[in-house]
Amino acid sequence: MQESLLHRRIDLHTHSTCSDGMLTPTELLTKAKEQNIEVFSLTDHDTLTGLQEAQTAADKLGIKLVPGVELSVQWSGIPLHMVVLGFDKENDVLTSIVEKNQETRLERAKRIAQLLVKQGLPDLYEKAVLEAGPSQIGRPHFARVMVREGLVKDENKAFDQYLGNKRLGKLRDVWPTLEEVVPDLAKTSCDLVMAHPKRYPLTLTKLRRLMTLFSELGGNAMEVSSGNENPQSVRLLETISRDLGLSVSVGSDFHGPYGPWCEVGKFTSIQEASLNPLWHKWL
Ligand code: AMP
Ligand code: MN
Ligand code: MN
Ligand code: MN
Repeated sequence: MQESLLHRRIDLHTHSTCSDGMLTPTELLTKAKEQNIEVFSLTDHDTLTGLQEAQTAADKLGIKLVPGVELSVQWSGIPLHMVVLGFDKENDVLTSIVEKNQETRLERAKRIAQLLVKQGLPDLYEKAVLEAGPSQIGRPHFARVMVREGLVKDENKAFDQYLGNKRLGKLRDVWPTLEEVVPDLAKTSCDLVMAHPKRYPLTLTKLRRLMTLFSELGGNAMEVSSGNENPQSVRLLETISRDLGLSVSVGSDFHGPYGPWCEVGKFTSIQEASLNPLWHKWL
């Protein structure tokens, strides 16, 4: 009981309107306050633009904000997400990776639109760009347009039928590799967290291989609980983190108050006492 109460005061993985979330950074921090969160991170996809507003809101509400970003990366053509936490504003290594990924997102959006045309849909590029507005454009913006245009029933169907990793083909390989980004980032002051490792299409052997490589390259933490993960998966990730001496992170991966997302501050509980939680230094 105490354990789960403790966990609810932390959320190190969330999204705002600066990427594909539904709430502004201020609205998100307000929600975090309602959930009694003490340590919070905004981790938008490939952008740092929400962090200033998040910091202002966090200061007003008395929440410890840990600077964050969720970087798109790849391992042998498998798209992965790496959460970077606790960096300084002046981290040029990180800033240049983020800028490069933003260019990649724009270019990828054009190619996603072409891919959809090949599958018989209208050209949705302009509409997706409008939908994204100043946010980092991604597949969710295409999914929203597809729902609005009546091309699919809901966003999940859009991913199932058109946008999921299986459908992306060569577009899976656009992101920098772990080898390209992890060692350079590891030399800077930050924490490198492999996000939601159970969401990748990997056998247990491959998952262990991935996490071993990640650790050897300089990655130092693993997100052992992310949203509605099933408890067995969380136990497995806990074991791997102990075996490899990795710190652990947790987060809701909140994107919005409706849809498949967990509420801010909620995620499957972890066996904290046997682990090395990243957030202890920020409490
Ligand atoms: P992208 O950043 O363009 O690669 O898009 C990935 C994002 O799409 C993830 O961060 C999720 O927010 C969202 N997403 C992935 N799968 C689904 C799904 N089945 N239904 C709705 N959203 C999804
Ligand atoms: Mn997302
Ligand atoms: Mn992710
Ligand atoms: Mn995320």
